Amino acid sequence: MGKLVIVGTVAFDEIETPFGKTDKILGGAATFISLAASQFDVDSAIVSVVGEDFPKEYLNILSDKNINISQLEIVKGGKTFYWKGKYHNDLNSRDTLVTELNTLADFNPVVPSDYSGAEVVMLGNLHPGVQLSVINQMEKRPKLIVLDTMNFWMDNALDALLETIKHIDVITINDEEARQLTGEYSLVKAAHKIYGMGPKYVVIKKGEHGALLFHEEQIFFAPALPLEEVFDPTGAGDTFAGGFSGFLAATGDISFENMKKAVIHGSNLASFCVERFGTERMVNLDKKEVNKRLHQFKTLTQFEIELQ
Ligand code: AMP
Repeated sequence: MGKLVIVGTVAFDEIETPFGKTDKILGGAATFISLAASQFDVDSAIVSVVGEDFPKEYLNILSDKNINISQLEIVKGGKTFYWKGKYHNDLNSRDTLVTELNTLADFNPVVPSDYSGAEVVMLGNLHPGVQLSVINQMEKRPKLIVLDTMNFWMDNALDALLETIKHIDVITINDEEARQLTGEYSLVKAAHKIYGMGPKYVVIKKGEHGALLFHEEQIFFAPALPLEEVFDPTGAGDTFAGGFSGFLAATGDISFENMKKAVIHGSNLASFCVERFGTERMVNLDKKEVNKRLHQFKTLTQFEIELQ
């Protein structure tokens, strides 16, 4: 079975959307990534940190999905990373109201020895210095290193981010972040500029407008499935990244053709994530529903055309 190392926040999220608000609930980039990746035949381990305030029932949610949490450090007397966000009416944009790093501020990640030979590393959103430390602990160069990040780290740790990006294969970011990172409005130009920073593959997520995969001069586009109900977009990007990297780790094939499939799997899983608050939908997702929606995806994008 393919091994996948996942780094990223494991968090308390407090979310407000036009449809309601939550108290502190389970969230975090590594949480969403690992739940999505658990849909595939892959052996994943989370490298992250929480505080003593993190409930045992949340840990059980992860371990019940066979996600290895032996390197999810629990800091005695520490507080878990906390993020609060509020979505605008169109749900496509949001304001971050609070980011409290707490235990994440002094986190030294340790890759479990039985995962240091993993073929795929998914560097989820957190401090780019932590992401780099995980790369450096891998016993040999993994087959594929995927990195996701966000504007918070571009604003607060740009130099460290640019250093880490040099060592990765695939970056997944949203359109706004791609523009911020490169200063280019055109996403094609932005992707080309990002190649110059290190990654050979660039995935630009466009929320309800789908995702673009760039590699050299090739571009592949996957739409987002038009949904009847979008409730809370939190974690959709991470779920995409988890589906993308989980599929690639499970198949062991990192060709461009297979990456296209990975983009579809990522988009498919993200379509579930947004239907409920937080992780609720991903925790209770079964393979049958996932498969059914893949068929819908295929119908949505397939057409016959006579070409000269
Ligand atoms: P997404 O909606 O895919 O961008 O991811 C939302 C998740 O990212 C939430 O569960 C947050 O806990 C987490 N998050 C928010 N801000 C940060 C940050 N600066 N670093 C790492 N994770 C974050």
